Amino acid sequence: ALTDKLTRLVKEMRGQARITETNVQDMLREVRMALLEADVALPVVRDFINRVKEKALGQEVMGSLSPGQALVSIVSRELAATMGEGVSDINLAAQPPAVILMAGLQGAGKTTTTAKLAKYLIEKRKKKVLTVSGDVYRPAAIEQLKTVTAQAGAEWFPSSPDQKPVDIALAALDYARRHFFDVLLVDTAGRLAIDAALMAEITQLHAVLKPVETLFVVDAMQGQDAINTAKAFKEALPLTGIILTKTDGDSRGGAALSVRQITGAPIKFSGTSEKLDGLEVFDAERHAGRILGMGDILSLVEQVTAGVDMAAAQKLAAKMKSGDGFDLNDFLSQIQQMKNMGGLSSLLDKLPAQMAAKAGQVDMDKAEKDIKRKEGIIQSMTPLERRKPELIKATRKRRIASGSGVHVQEVNRLLNEFEQMQGMMKKLKGGGMMKMMKRMGG
Ligand code: GDP
Ligand code: MG
Repeated sequence: ALTDKLTRLVKEMRGQARITETNVQDMLREVRMALLEADVALPVVRDFINRVKEKALGQEVMGSLSPGQALVSIVSRELAATMGEGVSDINLAAQPPAVILMAGLQGAGKTTTTAKLAKYLIEKRKKKVLTVSGDVYRPAAIEQLKTVTAQAGAEWFPSSPDQKPVDIALAALDYARRHFFDVLLVDTAGRLAIDAALMAEITQLHAVLKPVETLFVVDAMQGQDAINTAKAFKEALPLTGIILTKTDGDSRGGAALSVRQITGAPIKFSGTSEKLDGLEVFDAERHAGRILGMGDILSLVEQVTAGVDMAAAQKLAAKMKSGDGFDLNDFLSQIQQMKNMGGLSSLLDKLPAQMAAKAGQVDMDKAEKDIKRKEGIIQSMTPLERRKPELIKATRKRRIASGSGVHVQEVNRLLNEFEQMQGMMKKLKGGGMMKMMKRMGG
């Protein structure tokens, strides 16, 4: 449920906000896990963590009041800075036609992205654009480019499977010159994996075309292997930019960091749908949040630390340690803390896009009213009932319901939810939960 997610998120935030020198190590382990889960390649993760550690330790020497906030902020800033470095628009500063060479594995999205770029250059930069396919291995690929080029409103230069890619490229270049095209976009053959002959072919294409942009198209969903692909393309071609496709998928897009680090080329655009308008200027900050699995973590950290009642949290932690268990008072205090944090809808703004989309299906007004109603129900109980919910049978339920102006079913629902939460707390007691509570309680 939504509240479970928020509670979990808040728990994480609390831990991070209370970090001290001694648990930087723990925090970094969590960041490392997040990066690996997002499929950032292992050597890249190691490198990144070392860099963050250096900076974080510096911060502590400076005596930051809230090292947790400092560390989270360093991590997300470093991630955004690494991915956002040198970001620039498509470079067309060349004697026309400016040639753009598309490179990447088969299925990465080269052909689609070629048409997206054509559309972008026509609409946003008012250019006259020609496309051509050097993919002579699959006749369907040439047809595909023809179709999407027409959709983009650009002109397509014919090619056929019996030609050599270099000859196609030269003919298209000549045609583009004679017809005063501003830009020539060259789509290339797919590589299922790194293949020496195909790499030689694209190197040769690069030599004759002298492109002003050589763009490496990479699927955001590519996992650990992204690093090897990127290495091979970097060795074969002087890459000038990266386009990260399929960012609309479920993956957390760690490939962006891997590929950025390995190639040194800036990530210029991201593909956000199969359609031709699904191309956006790459947003490094947003992508950093996505890789970490968090939205705007910094403002969330601030919001959470401002809203959480530390004394109540400490009491809860102590209670769990002493084995008294989790009762309805604790449940109420959880509900109230959630309310203190500026309401559900304001938290929702800060969730990562994927989570927010799911959470967005929930009616926020209704969710907030629901919280108030739950609060009302618990407040209609006697202190004894709150400590020993098992006492609440039919008669007491009716009294509580009428006291808080709800139906008996709602009291039942709340008790069920409480039991579920209690069960979860019991399960977590020995492990992560206790650790979190300790951090939270200081
Ligand atoms: P190529 O082999 O590198 O030329 O890849 P294609 O351009 O043929 O794309 C392969 C598949 O990925 C096609 O089904 C595309 O529609 C799809 N695709 C490409 N870019 C995106 C994107 O940004 N988002 C989504 N959802 N699909 C994409
Ligand atoms: Mg293709």
